[in-house]
Order: sequence, then structure tokens, then C-alpha cells
Amino acid sequence: MSEIGKNLVVISGPSGCGKDTVVKHILKTDDRFVLSVSATTRPKRPTETDGVDYIFLTAPEFIGKIAGGEFLEHTLYCGNYYGTLKSQIEQKVADGKVVVLVIEVEGAANVKKVYPDALTIFVAPPSLEELERRLRNRGTEGDDVIKQRLFKANEELGFKSSYDYIVENNFVEQCAESIINIYDNEK
Ligand code: 5GP
Repeated sequence: MSEIGKNLVVISGPSGCGKDTVVKHILKTDDRFVLSVSATTRPKRPTETDGVDYIFLTAPEFIGKIAGGEFLEHTLYCGNYYGTLKSQIEQKVADGKVVVLVIEVEGAANVKKVYPDALTIFVAPPSLEELERRLRNRGTEGDDVIKQRLFKANEELGFKSSYDYIVENNFVEQCAESIINIYDNEK
């Protein structure tokens, strides 16, 4: 087993399914887990902090890092680049942590190719209607972006069977607990 792969938990799920809240709950309640802070060219939301939620980069900065081989995986999602920096993973695993990657389906598949031992979990919304309601309530995106993300969500739901586990997010605490239990059982 690769030392890095067995310490990676990859979490995906459509935008608005609540995966970020679930992961925040895991990180708050169990200090074995830390977040892989992704790099992105998406504009920062008012609630986000650079270096904590994401490492916000300009497109030329991001492209420079692709050229420099700094990403484990990267993708273009709804017009913006997102990527997992190798440095995030390697340093945190070396520190004895289990690293949680919250990334979309293409990135998850690419991580699984490099690290087949990585545990992959798909967080599913209770329904598409509920997903739309959550996206609209969040109020962080305009109507066009919401439509684009709902279209993408349909596409992403088609990939859920390629994950090691699927967990439905009805209640944040329960969903977080299920993920921790899955990790412990697999270990
Ligand atoms: P958001 O803009 O809502 O923060 O993220 C959009 C999508 O990009 C989400 O599905 C999120 O999980 C995914 N994402 C965030 N970071 C990364 C990353 O480093 N790599 C990949 N492939 N997807 C990411």
C-alpha cells in the first residue's frame, strides 16, 4: 500500500450537496483529518479566506504551476481552474495526518489513478430538488451560475457508482459520522 494513498480521503458531490459543511464538521470533531487546500482561479466569495478555504490564484499563476508540475490533479470546472497541489498532500501526510480532498469527479478519478489506495466517497443530495433549494438558499451564486451548476450536478451524479462509497447527506452530523466510520472500518 502506498503510504500517501492510504492517508487520503477523497470527497466529491455536486455543488450545493453540503459536502463542504460535512467536511468542516469532520475536521472540527476529529483531529486526525486535515484539509487539502486547493488552488483555484474562481473569484473569492466574501465568506472565504485566502489560504484557508482556497489558495486563490490568477490564471497565469495557475498555468505556471501546471507547467511546473506542481499539481497532483487539476481541472476546469464551470470556467475556472481548480487543482490539488502535491505540496499540500505530501507535507500533511508526512506530518502523520489523513488528508481530505474535496474535489469534483474528474479530479477524484485522477487521484484514484495515481493512488489506488485512496478512499473515495460520494456525498449525494437527498434529491435534485433539494439540491436546487440549497444552492438558491446559499445565495453565493447568480441565476446563470446556479443553472450551470445544476446541469453539472446531473452529470456528476452519473459518476457516483465509481466511488468506493456513497453517503446521502440528510443531516450534517450523521453524514460526517458515517464518513469517519467508513474510514475507520477501511483502515
Ligand atoms: P466551488 O466553486 O463551489 O468551491 O467548487 C466547485 C467544484 O470544484 C466543487 O465540486 C469542488 O469540490 C471542486 N474542487 C475544489 N477544489 C478542487 C480541486 O483541487 N480539484 C478538483 N478537481 N476539483 C476541486
